[in-house]
Amino acid sequence: MFADLPHALLVDVARKAIALEPADALAKAQLLAIERQRRLLQPVINATGVLLHTNLGRAPLPDTKHTDQLFSSTIRASNLEFDLQTGTRGSRRTHASELLAQLCGAEAALVVNNCAGALVLVLSALAQGKGVLVSRGELVEIGGGFRIPDVLESSGARLVEVGTTNRTRLADYASAMDRHGRESIALSLKVHQSNYRIQGFTEETTAAELATLGLPVVADIGSGLLDERLPWLADRSGKTPDLPWLRGEPGAKQSLASGADLIVFSGDKLLGGPQAGVIAGRRDLVEACAKHPLARALRPGGLVLNALQNTLLAYLRNDARSLPFWDMATRMVEALQRRAESIVSAVADVKCTSVAMQSVPGGGTLPDRSIDSWGISLSGNRGGALRSYVDVPIVARTASGKTFLDLRTVDPADDTVLVDAIRVALTAKPSNSEAAPEHGGDDGGE
Ligand SMILES: *Cc1c(COP(=O)(O)O)cnc(C)c1O
Repeated sequence: MFADLPHALLVDVARKAIALEPADALAKAQLLAIERQRRLLQPVINATGVLLHTNLGRAPLPDTKHTDQLFSSTIRASNLEFDLQTGTRGSRRTHASELLAQLCGAEAALVVNNCAGALVLVLSALAQGKGVLVSRGELVEIGGGFRIPDVLESSGARLVEVGTTNRTRLADYASAMDRHGRESIALSLKVHQSNYRIQGFTEETTAAELATLGLPVVADIGSGLLDERLPWLADRSGKTPDLPWLRGEPGAKQSLASGADLIVFSGDKLLGGPQAGVIAGRRDLVEACAKHPLARALRPGGLVLNALQNTLLAYLRNDARSLPFWDMATRMVEALQRRAESIVSAVADVKCTSVAMQSVPGGGTLPDRSIDSWGISLSGNRGGALRSYVDVPIVARTASGKTFLDLRTVDPADDTVLVDAIRVALTAKPSNSEAAPEHGGDDGGE
């Protein structure tokens, strides 16, 4: 059986097989075809327990089967830049961007490819040739080599370091501003400590305090939590579930309300949408970004804007639980345990047991937080066997000679797939060593 590949790719595989193993070319070609197939982009089951796994595409998007027909993701022609009212050219900023502004309580918003792109655009448009005040405690690498000092430099802005690693006070910003001359400073930048923590004797200056300096305040809040009060998770009586692992995460709405003039964040972290970067806040600043030539280079396509719009409509309907991210995030441990126990009894093998475990938010956010969860433990390292399961690759976690499948990140509709995949994996010989995705190995930004 050959993988379902286009003829041209099978020909490549056949040539390679004959060159490498002329004596047994057919068997070699079959192996190479499977390897080739596995390099294609495809769905996987995330059983790692990392909710926003950067290597697995961060926030999962809803299955189009379950979404509203009107907003199905298979758009052919669309009004991407067409005004249906007047029949003239429109703007790709009238759909998702307007909904975002409304949800963030912002005057205006702009969508680009990712949060890194959003920050580069903001700094290029607002601070080229000028100074930007940043606390020494926030000169960070966010992941994948995305470093704040480098981003500033590549945007043509000049970094003005303020304060110390653990303590930066308002007076430090004020004296840096005086030292360099107020006219030479474009803005102050706050970067959320999303993938690290400074503990002990620390002090940081809030956006509200920074606003008193009279400079625009830009905040990179990174993870894109729209509202700290989580209104989209409220039950009928208005009560929202307690999610202790989210405590202290800045909301877009609250950041703007408390004094930030502009915020930037990712679309595929706590927002639960597609990969995108959002710029939201004061209209004049957003317009300056939109007019910059880089905005054209960083603009997202219709597929992304459509998925983002669907995500935002779910929030506006107060139905964000229909987004896979919030669904995973709010699953009760008891329900996960029941699922684990029924999988274990269906597999009926002593090598497969039900165990408590800890999920993590991932995506380079909330580095020291974990979420109680439940899942399945298999004896032996079965990571490779699960990844090569024929129906759909399953990515699990392996540690100290065991394999763990965390059910928080698995859609319950996939439980029957897990039963079969586990049976198959348990019949294969466990591998001795391998590099499987670890909890800690996901720093988010790459
Ligand atoms: C994740 C993150 C980024 C990078 O976001 P991308 O969308 O991956 O470009 C930037 N800043 C902060 C604070 C982040 O947490």
